[in-house]
Amino acid sequence: MMARQVIYGPDDGDDGSYEGGYDRDQEGRATGRRYSVTEEDILLRPTRMAEMVGQREVYERILIAIEAAKKRGEPLGHILFDGPPGLGKTTFATCIPRELGTTFQIANGATLKAPKDIIPYLTNAEEGSVLFIDEIHRMQKSVEEFIYPAMEDFRIDYTYGDGANARTLNIPLKHFTLIGATTRTGLLSAPMRDRFQMREHLDFYTPDELATIVLNNAVKLQMPIDGTAAKEIAFRSRGTPRLANNRLRWVRDYADARANGKVSPQVALAAMEMQGIDALGLDPFDRRFLETICRVFNGGPVGVEAVAHTMNIAPDTLVDEVEPFLLRSELLIRTPRGRKVTAKGFEHLGIDPSQFDFPQTLF
Ligand code: ADP
Repeated sequence: MMARQVIYGPDDGDDGSYEGGYDRDQEGRATGRRYSVTEEDILLRPTRMAEMVGQREVYERILIAIEAAKKRGEPLGHILFDGPPGLGKTTFATCIPRELGTTFQIANGATLKAPKDIIPYLTNAEEGSVLFIDEIHRMQKSVEEFIYPAMEDFRIDYTYGDGANARTLNIPLKHFTLIGATTRTGLLSAPMRDRFQMREHLDFYTPDELATIVLNNAVKLQMPIDGTAAKEIAFRSRGTPRLANNRLRWVRDYADARANGKVSPQVALAAMEMQGIDALGLDPFDRRFLETICRVFNGGPVGVEAVAHTMNIAPDTLVDEVEPFLLRSELLIRTPRGRKVTAKGFEHLGIDPSQFDFPQTLF
């Protein structure tokens, strides 16, 4: 049975689709606009678990939990997904209810400013249904505390009115499953984290996994592509399916405009070069971040706020969207005194570290 998707909330749109996160403008500033969801986005997002590639350990654990819940006829326990943007948190959260054959609702933590904002979601949740809260770390503390009893005992206590007129309303809820997604588990309070029965971390995908995603999606887009070209795209996607899809679509545009729609490895490379995507998959904005640390702060260590200030961009964008892959690729390290570009980072940028007056032993 296909799940019925019920969406509430001003930010989520009503087109039956959803993408988490914000657009970046050319300079990499978060534009504060939701990713506009195109039909192609919907086409490329797996709708069933079986279509999902990679994250095998997480995938297996989720499948077991789903099977057990179905066998016992009980709702699935609450699940928290964390990891950098574009790795599949929303995809998992939307595939799970489909596997369960249940309804689901989507909310965003940033729009949950007071308990009253979450009440409609909770009272509308059907037995065994899924409530997905993206960016759950952005939820106000008052909302967080308000949902503890909802998560634990499936009831809410709502107080309204003031002083002597204050009344508390106890509202019983259906047994629902909360799925939370966050780019930063560190920002969630321990009591909140502990209320999730499963906590799953999503890591970057391997180039082989991304190549499989690229090949699968090329079929969906009816785009002939050879395996080597798919690998070139996979290698330059920073371990992230969302970026692999973006690159694939750009390569298709480029091939249509410049190469009669034929995607050879050379065409794929030329397309990505035109966007300034380098051999490690970094885009101009990623490089500007590293270059700012090198040129303005002598390679670091420097606090991320100072770099963000210099670049005129929100520190959160750097921490959530830019840094994780640079750290993972060992181009950047975090020290107690701040961020520091590694020898590998300098080499990648083609900057000679010896031009700065700090000891070489640091590298
Ligand atoms: P997140 O919620 O972590 O930011 P999403 O779930 O929105 O990431 O993933 C972004 C896009 O990447 C999806 O729309 C989908 O097309 C693709 N994607 C993510 N995970 C997978 C996967 N495991 N297999 C195939 N495609 C995936």
